[in-house]
Amino acid sequence: MDTQYLENIESNVRTYSRSFPVIFDKAQGARIWDADGNEYLDFLAGAGTLNYGHNESDLQKALIDYIQSGGIVHGLDMWTDAKYQFFKTVEEILLKPRGLDYKIQLPGPTGTNAVEAAIRLARHATGRKNIITFTNGFHGVTMGALATTGNSKFRQAAELPAIGAQFMPYDGYLGEGVDTLDYLEKALTDSSSGLDKPAAVFFETVQGEGGINVASIEWMQRLERLCKAHDILMIVDDIQAGCGRTGKFFSFEHADIKPDIITNSKSISGFGLPFAMVLMRRDLDVWKAGEYNGTFRGFNFAMVTATAALKKYWSDDTFEKDIQRKGEIVKTRYQKLASLISDHGHPASERGRGLMRGLDVKTGEMADKITKRAFKKGLIIETCGHDGNVIKCLCSLTITGDELEKALDILEDSVKDALAA
Ligand SMILES: *Cc1c(COP(=O)(O)O)cnc(C)c1O
Repeated sequence: MDTQYLENIESNVRTYSRSFPVIFDKAQGARIWDADGNEYLDFLAGAGTLNYGHNESDLQKALIDYIQSGGIVHGLDMWTDAKYQFFKTVEEILLKPRGLDYKIQLPGPTGTNAVEAAIRLARHATGRKNIITFTNGFHGVTMGALATTGNSKFRQAAELPAIGAQFMPYDGYLGEGVDTLDYLEKALTDSSSGLDKPAAVFFETVQGEGGINVASIEWMQRLERLCKAHDILMIVDDIQAGCGRTGKFFSFEHADIKPDIITNSKSISGFGLPFAMVLMRRDLDVWKAGEYNGTFRGFNFAMVTATAALKKYWSDDTFEKDIQRKGEIVKTRYQKLASLISDHGHPASERGRGLMRGLDVKTGEMADKITKRAFKKGLIIETCGHDGNVIKCLCSLTITGDELEKALDILEDSVKDALAA
């Protein structure tokens, strides 16, 4: 196996294999190995798809048992035992204890499918077309979702104008001391603002691809009040920040708000299988049969592993506390690195919530210097943000203390090397 072969045959559109140009063949927990037997710690974890690590043994066993028992693999969106168990578990473990009463829609298997469904449902339910989205938001790359995605790289590649959404400044966009919702509130109340009355606001509580930008609790609560006052739906895109990443199962729990619609994907299967879910306030379920469909709605394998993951990790708050504790460890180390970099004359800062953390080194060039060195030393870590300027921690939530320390040591060494270069 040589990488030349793959380079030659795979479209230029490929991305992650450019940052990590080796052939991987095994993975367990927070670790992944290439075909030459080199071991790497994985701080990318499928961009937040492997919150419980690679090949989590109990989920793997549940899946193998299901396959061996002759369970349904594909059934369109027909009712299956796997779906029954999954819905029951979502209700018992996620919704009821949080006082949430949602219906569940299983769209196609990827995040952007859930986003499309949520946007259409919001338009359908309100009879309005416009969606408010925020600067630096990332919501996927199909046409409807793309219209709500900020990054021009993705928008330009579509070769069609993105329509149906208007951007507002996210929390912090205009620097400290400016509450960006002042503008949204003014625009909503002024008929000459140019803002069409929206069906919904659509946002991430912590922007993943956009640079680990964290919405403050107060900002989210004010946004909820604004939505209520103007009869606008609130949709939280929890595709990356959800499933425990920020230290609570749903990332909006920190702000004690109740979105009208939630999109979820990435880690919801728990095992890295393609799966997406939309949760909607019961009265918003205005869909008629088949108005939004797809061949792969509700992958039974994914529902089997999702059920096992929810039961194992979310039946009480032990896991949640553990994520928060590990988040503090990363925060402290990232803060140290930010000071170290700043001391060398390069501005840098740290931010995040739970185990969704970023080290902002202000330029993509600096971030690349560090992450390239990290990869050579055995750490897979990616960048995000408008210029790829933020070094992102998305390690598995189940990473051991030793692995976490080792990965952070590698990152520290890489920073020191980059500064010395
Ligand atoms: C990854 C992501 C998406 C898109 O999911 P895909 O599975 O790549 O289509 C949407 N929203 C957020 C917040 C994401 O992180």
